[in-house]
Amino acid sequence: MSAGMEVADSLGMLRARVDAWKREGLRIGFVPTMGNLHEGHYSLVRLARENADRVVASIFVNPTQFGPGEDYERYPRTPEADVAGLSAAGCHLAWMPPLETMYPLGTARAVRVQVPGITGVLDGAHRPGHFDGVCTVVARLFNQVRPDVAVFGRKDYQQLAVIRHMVRDLAFPLELLGADIVREDDGLARSSRNQYLSAGERVLAPEIHRTLLAMRDAAQAGQGRRELEAEAVARLQAAGFVVDYAVLRTPLLVEPPESPVPGDDGQRVALVAARLGRTRLIDNLEFTLQGADS
Ligand code: AMP
Repeated sequence: MSAGMEVADSLGMLRARVDAWKREGLRIGFVPTMGNLHEGHYSLVRLARENADRVVASIFVNPTQFGPGEDYERYPRTPEADVAGLSAAGCHLAWMPPLETMYPLGTARAVRVQVPGITGVLDGAHRPGHFDGVCTVVARLFNQVRPDVAVFGRKDYQQLAVIRHMVRDLAFPLELLGADIVREDDGLARSSRNQYLSAGERVLAPEIHRTLLAMRDAAQAGQGRRELEAEAVARLQAAGFVVDYAVLRTPLLVEPPESPVPGDDGQRVALVAARLGRTRLIDNLEFTLQGADS
């Protein structure tokens, strides 16, 4: 008999399994996904396994986090391959809720979870309502699965920051872990949306990562934020991207000081969102300024 990952598609089945594990005193890890899984997602499953006894991964393409005209309908759905991949990665239970289970009163009457402040900038500004949809579904998933530890990718840097805020403010009794970004050999961050790229666009796409590296090098060499951001935008535009943003921020996503101030730990993140044709790609790079206060 194989290790035999289970698949739950009803709340009753999920609850029975998780309750049994909890009665045994096992620690539950959780990885929320929208499916069409790749190595980035599987690295989250492995990190969850290292930090829990049992791992649940959810697959749910959440309509409330897509804006009008975004790719909800055409988002790639590959459930059979996902189940096989999750099983191979060591996941114990795949949670695949039907839409009516996630939104029993319908999406229009759904209770919404809204995080203020940090959701108003960057992706929140370019995708109005996106993070409300993310928090709305993640809060539901946390109540359904009741994990002890939940793993999110640092690829979606702002999403992790928003979830951190929600977990703290709503006192969800769980630990959050951020997993490192998994990239292709040429630096392109793995993403389900990469498959939308034409062959020509795929050749251009790693320019995002190269731009992030250049932003880091410039910041570490002491170049001012505004100048290095403008150079990053120009570089991406010259390569053929339509740029939503290319910015340097502190870990809490506020603008860093232009010149050194006491108490600055020098932690920075460069973030880019840019479009190639119809495909919107996001990526980021975390680093520390040399010579900052520690
Ligand atoms: P998604 O299915 O796109 O909603 O992503 C589900 C989770 O996988 C999120 O926490 C993402 O941040 C994470 N993830 C997606 N791509 C990557 C990647 N290349 N590296 C690390 N984590 C990722």
